[in-house]
Amino acid sequence: MQYADTLTLARRRSVLLLVSLHRTDRLAALAQANSAREVIAEVMRRVEGMLRSSDRYALASHEEIWVLLVDPPGESLAELAGRTLRGNLMRPIHGSDSGAGSAVRLNPAVGGAWQPADSPTDAMNLLAAASEACREAEELESRVKIVTARSESEAHHRRQLEQDLRDALFANQFDVHFQPQVSLATGRCTGAEALVRWTRPDGTRVNPGLIASICEARGLMTQLTLFVMNTTLRHLMAWNSQGIDARVSVNLSAITLADPAFPSLVGHALDTWSIAASRLTLELTETAVVRHEQSAMKFMKEIRERGCGLALDDFGTGYSSFNYLRQFPLTELKIDQSFVRNLADDASDQRIVHALVDLAHTFGMHALAEGVEDERSAQSLRQLGCDLAQGYFFARPMPHGEFTAWWREFNRVPTP
Ligand code: C2E
Ligand code: MG
Ligand code: MG
Repeated sequence: MQYADTLTLARRRSVLLLVSLHRTDRLAALAQANSAREVIAEVMRRVEGMLRSSDRYALASHEEIWVLLVDPPGESLAELAGRTLRGNLMRPIHGSDSGAGSAVRLNPAVGGAWQPADSPTDAMNLLAAASEACREAEELESRVKIVTARSESEAHHRRQLEQDLRDALFANQFDVHFQPQVSLATGRCTGAEALVRWTRPDGTRVNPGLIASICEARGLMTQLTLFVMNTTLRHLMAWNSQGIDARVSVNLSAITLADPAFPSLVGHALDTWSIAASRLTLELTETAVVRHEQSAMKFMKEIRERGCGLALDDFGTGYSSFNYLRQFPLTELKIDQSFVRNLADDASDQRIVHALVDLAHTFGMHALAEGVEDERSAQSLRQLGCDLAQGYFFARPMPHGEFTAWWREFNRVPTP
């Protein structure tokens, strides 16, 4: 399949499937041997065997195959084709010189981009969408993910946003705001959550959730996390010298859990800014833990051994597995805002929050309620024994200078 082919074909209704073969280790080791060529030949035979004459396929690299299905009868076929393709490639491949025991087994991931006829996109968009879907497929149990490709103008805006984001990140143009966390027992502010902020040159503010998801998709997450962590610790050092003994929480993304070097990067950052590890809490969501269950335990143990806190963010919105609370060395449970919003008037939310606070305490954690927007909710949380609260009722996230002033005022600390 030539690039030009793909370009013309992509103007029609089509599905591009990108297959990541996932035997790079074995295929690379066998690269010079006949058997490696045999494996690839068999893979291509199986792919070809399920295509129609109008479809196209190509071996894009020794570990990736592109398959273009032209004018498929319907969108649902894309998912079916992806699953069938994966099923075909999973059957053991026996080389001519190998016994049954040494068969090659592939565990491919298939990402697909579906392009409806009424919304033409260009080939590069189709490929970018399929490759993003393939990355997501790697995280799924089914290992198949099909998405609809963006239209050309949507894709153009997205590409521009991604480029601007990359430039801004490397030019340190992001900002970090701090949202106070308040002890419900003492009424004092004990710390703050660090939240990334970015305003584009045209004045538009980019949603932090979107920033995080682009960084995750484009391999920029470590860069983002280190920026937020170092900026936060730098401010913490300055606050220390002004008698502000705040603790801080920094959000981590799922992908960080799979980075074995990250815990030592945290250690370096703490040393650089001379901050005690106990002042830093790292927040993870349950979805992140589920996605990287295998590396999560080691990661969390290392972070805890260094003395940092570990919070489970947005608890109650995902799997809500009590098992995680028992199994992992967490120090804080953050109860999601959806249970807190109507707390004062909703008896069932009160029961849930009560149970979550008890659960946190049973497993030796603090309970923190997110999204506290009014005094009655704060009052209910206090009665339910919740330890900490965060939300617009106390303060919105704010720049570091404002936070200093706010802290002094709220905790009634005289200005030095
Ligand atoms: P999160 O970690 O759960 O952060 C809390 C979010 O709730 C923040 O949104 C905060 O502004 C908002 N919030 C706080 N109090 C209230 C309230 O009383 N009412 C309502 N309606 N909302 C409240 P924000 O800053 O837009 O961040 C959204 C999400 O983006 C965060 O959720 C976090 O998952 C992600 N995020 C933000 N900064 C970072 C970062 O530096 N790294 C990573 N990986 N993710 C980040
Ligand atoms: Mg958070
Ligand atoms: Mg949260």
